[in-house]
Amino acid sequence: MGRLGVLGWPVAHSRSPAMHNAAFAALGMSGWRYQRLPVPPHLFAETVRSLGASGLLGANVTIPHKQAALALATEASAAALEIGAANTLTFGPDGAVAAENTDAPGLIAALAEPVRGMRVQVLGAGGSARAAVWGLREAGAAEVLVWNRTYERAVALASDLDARAVRSPQASDLLVNCTSVGLEHRNRAGSLERSATEDGGLNLLGLTFDQLREYSNVADLVYRSQPTALLAAAGELGARTVDGLEILVAQGALSFELWTGRTAPREVMADAARAAQPID
Ligand code: NAP
Repeated sequence: MGRLGVLGWPVAHSRSPAMHNAAFAALGMSGWRYQRLPVPPHLFAETVRSLGASGLLGANVTIPHKQAALALATEASAAALEIGAANTLTFGPDGAVAAENTDAPGLIAALAEPVRGMRVQVLGAGGSARAAVWGLREAGAAEVLVWNRTYERAVALASDLDARAVRSPQASDLLVNCTSVGLEHRNRAGSLERSATEDGGLNLLGLTFDQLREYSNVADLVYRSQPTALLAAAGELGARTVDGLEILVAQGALSFELWTGRTAPREVMADAARAAQPID
């Protein structure tokens, strides 16, 4: 029996409650519950420090709290420390907060092909790109290249994590989009809208349709109901594609296993995550 949740601000859009609650139901884990925990940044540290005493077993952490989560942890895994962010916390009743990062191994688990020996082009230099680059290096990628709209951020990330910054995306075995280009949102009337940048999606990533032929595997961390422009084009060109929901499910399954000690029912979690209607 345990209570879990997802800490974010905002967090209403999160598909994690649907995913984890479906897993509890499938495994007959009555008494287990996973809920949204909206916490604004200025209250994050004091709120999280009190969660263990209030009976919470653990929590996922999403935007904008992943770095703050690591900062307040009383113990942290090597992955969380080296990435500089935590997406999974486990609480002790005595105030202990253990920090882990399942975003990095989640991405690696979701990829269709083993990355050992691959040359990989990562797009983006934000929080998820840090986790991706760390995970790819750890999984034995031969070379990881980082392209970002703001080049200086790519340089900083690359020097931290043993990768190489590039001024334009290079031909590689695998392309991983870790930018937010391609996100869609739900408007006040409840309809899904593509972002204003959708039409130029590939160009915003420094790519043309033809250039996409240079990648046989393409993963996109952005998750939404329809394929992103990047994945639609890559699929059309015959690349193996992995979407953001598969990556979300993989990180969620690893967190689930950490907290419960049970094997996560990945198919059930994937179906629930796909069926969940994000709300704004
Ligand atoms: P972040 O730290 O805010 O980084 C955003 C990145 O996107 C930066 O590299 C930024 O470039 C780039 N970017 C934003 N707008 C752009 C534009 N118009 N053109 C080109 N580049 C642009 O965000 P994050 O936490 O890394 O998350 C990135 C995406 O991954 C989000 O969509 C998030 O939902 C998704 N995500 C998915 C999962 C999953 O499990 N599937 C997990 C984590 C994150 P600059 O540096 O130039 O601003």
